[in-house]
Amino acid sequence: MAVRTGIVRDDRYLEHKPGHMHPEHPNRLKAVYRMLDSSSPLGLIEIEPEPATLEHIELVHSPSYIKKVLKTADHGFTSLAPDTPASSRTYLSAWLAVGGCLKALDNLVSGRCEACLSLIRPPGHHALRDRAGGFCIFNNLGITARYAIKKYDFQRILIIDWDIHHGNGLNDIFYEDKRVLYISSHDIMSYPYTGDWNETGKGEGEGYTINIPIPRAIKDKDFFYLYHEAVCDVIRAYNPQLVLVGAGFDAHHEDPVGRSKLSEQTFRWLTHMILDIRTDIDHPPILLVLEGGYSPRALASCVKEVLDALKFEGTWERPSLKGVKQGDELVRKVRRIHENYGVW
Ligand SMILES: [Zn+2]
Repeated sequence: MAVRTGIVRDDRYLEHKPGHMHPEHPNRLKAVYRMLDSSSPLGLIEIEPEPATLEHIELVHSPSYIKKVLKTADHGFTSLAPDTPASSRTYLSAWLAVGGCLKALDNLVSGRCEACLSLIRPPGHHALRDRAGGFCIFNNLGITARYAIKKYDFQRILIIDWDIHHGNGLNDIFYEDKRVLYISSHDIMSYPYTGDWNETGKGEGEGYTINIPIPRAIKDKDFFYLYHEAVCDVIRAYNPQLVLVGAGFDAHHEDPVGRSKLSEQTFRWLTHMILDIRTDIDHPPILLVLEGGYSPRALASCVKEVLDALKFEGTWERPSLKGVKQGDELVRKVRRIHENYGVW
């Protein structure tokens, strides 16, 4: 079923320029925005982002780190981490990336939208309290979850992170917090080499971090099966009031960084699946936030698949789930590890 869908886009996200050869190049978003302009999907609600406030950024990051990000404005080109350069207007894009997510959340909570897609950069899921890394500066999703708790008193927030990399920032920020259930599938042999099966949360948050290392060459159907079986169970059991998605598309087979094997259709299936399961619980709002995806062409086609699913009327064609040996092994393993925690 189609849902009222908001889009966050802004040309100021192109002002973060990490260098001609850097994979997290403005051309990524340019390709996505071009796709939006040429395919002009009907009925999208445009959400104009505003920069976040200092108070918002401090929901996750330390004042000294925020100052360090601001200082990059004094230089034409500098670096926040060896893989995360900054240009003189990077701070603006980073501030606006957080602000775009928060504005999207406000639009979801007010009921203006049922789902939103924040097409922003720089990405965020690797950003730590005190440190940039993995092309990420501020933890857009982490700040959004903390904002949802603080402003709207949400007590059960689900973050699904389907980027091919482990969102170590999100993992760490909510490791002891059961108000945020973080579930990530990732290639553990890629940056940042964290997120093993036994990283399951701590203290009050034990069992509320679900890490699923996947084979780099996982096939579309196996990947979908993993989400269909394991993630749907978690959603039903946790009954989230808000669903956040770390929507990275670097598991696509054309991606030069992820070097994985998925095709764009998988992201359509996943979006349909989340919309379906949403109707089994209390119709929580859904906010998808762009993370990785480094082939501009593949990124634009993956985003198009997600949008097509959000705007789709009728019955979608599910893939056959026969012969998904790899997916079945992953589902068994994650269930075996997590059955003791009582989250599902
Ligand atoms: Zn990634």
